[in-house]
Amino acid sequence: MKTIFNFGAGPAMIPRSVLEEVKAELLNWRETGISIMELGHRTELFQDLMAEVKKDLTELLKIPSNYRILFLAGGARGQFSAVPMNLLREGQVADYLVTGVWSEFAYDYAKAYGKTHMVASGKDLGFVSVPDKSQWSMTKGASYFYYCANETITGLFVKEPSQVVCPLVVDMTSNILSEPIDVSKYGIIFASAQKNLGSAGVTLVIIREDLLQDALPVTPEIFNYKTQVKENSCLNTPPTFPIYLLGLVAKWTLKEGGLPEMAKRCQQRSNTLYDFINTSDFYSNKVDPKFRSKINVTFSLPSDMLTEKFCEEAEQAGMIGLKGHRFLGGARASMYNAMPEEGAHQLLEFMESFIKKARI
Ligand SMILES: *Cc1c(COP(=O)(O)O)cnc(C)c1O
Repeated sequence: MKTIFNFGAGPAMIPRSVLEEVKAELLNWRETGISIMELGHRTELFQDLMAEVKKDLTELLKIPSNYRILFLAGGARGQFSAVPMNLLREGQVADYLVTGVWSEFAYDYAKAYGKTHMVASGKDLGFVSVPDKSQWSMTKGASYFYYCANETITGLFVKEPSQVVCPLVVDMTSNILSEPIDVSKYGIIFASAQKNLGSAGVTLVIIREDLLQDALPVTPEIFNYKTQVKENSCLNTPPTFPIYLLGLVAKWTLKEGGLPEMAKRCQQRSNTLYDFINTSDFYSNKVDPKFRSKINVTFSLPSDMLTEKFCEEAEQAGMIGLKGHRFLGGARASMYNAMPEEGAHQLLEFMESFIKKARI
């Protein structure tokens, strides 16, 4: 079977060796005689597995002991509502930094639950740069400050804002486990799993203990952080298979060298493409070089017709998912942790050869 490199924004590639492991133990998980999918979530075995996944994530991300780890359903979008429902206090304001489509959605969702304030927006810049800090207006005594660390659609990296005094809430769906981070700087980190953590269905939420307060009365119990911490994410049946897969991905990440190694690989893969795009008069990237994502590399071709042809022919050559987001057009190469370096090189060669063909 030919290797397919999936450059789609998500669901993304899963390490081959992880899939082999799943296959090998699918019918008989750890000598239980049954599949992990059939195992009761309240059994000691599954509870132990969850503890193991938490332990590995704690090691990878160096999560301090005053943080709790939740495995919830509902995706990142579920968290766009869960965050304000749990954190937005009566009479207070939540600050949002809007740097792209994902943080804009989060900001719009939050409005339903209380007072929100847009600190700054990169929309006028086409979301290809982060507004300068001198232009931010932060609210004194805000409930929290929200931002998205990697805007997947434009391929924009947003560095964690310094000098924020209220709890920092971050959407790390497309860059979690891609580099070491200092968890202690954050109040809440959340990420749905289908990009760097395995398969869709589970959302990782890392929350500082002191933020486990009473949620707004409208909050559905399944989105109530305090309840879910008390119930160890098992208020109802959690997404057991995606949690298991997340565990395997965490072990793989540790085995490969942890987050410093993942960061090195992200840098190499993205450099491979950016270095070429920078010198090309055929491909172009509109993102401010200071904020270019090391994970989602967006690029345009001279015309929509050529973009379409490019994506089609790349697919025939085994490189799928290169079509840009429907909001932006163009092309986009998403390269999460499971993308081998060879994938970036194969894409580079294809990009080079496509120019020649397009000019005939
Ligand atoms: C993909 C993505 C989302 C949406 O995730 P869902 O799990 O589909 O809700 C949100 N934020 C970011 C940064 C993403 O990349």
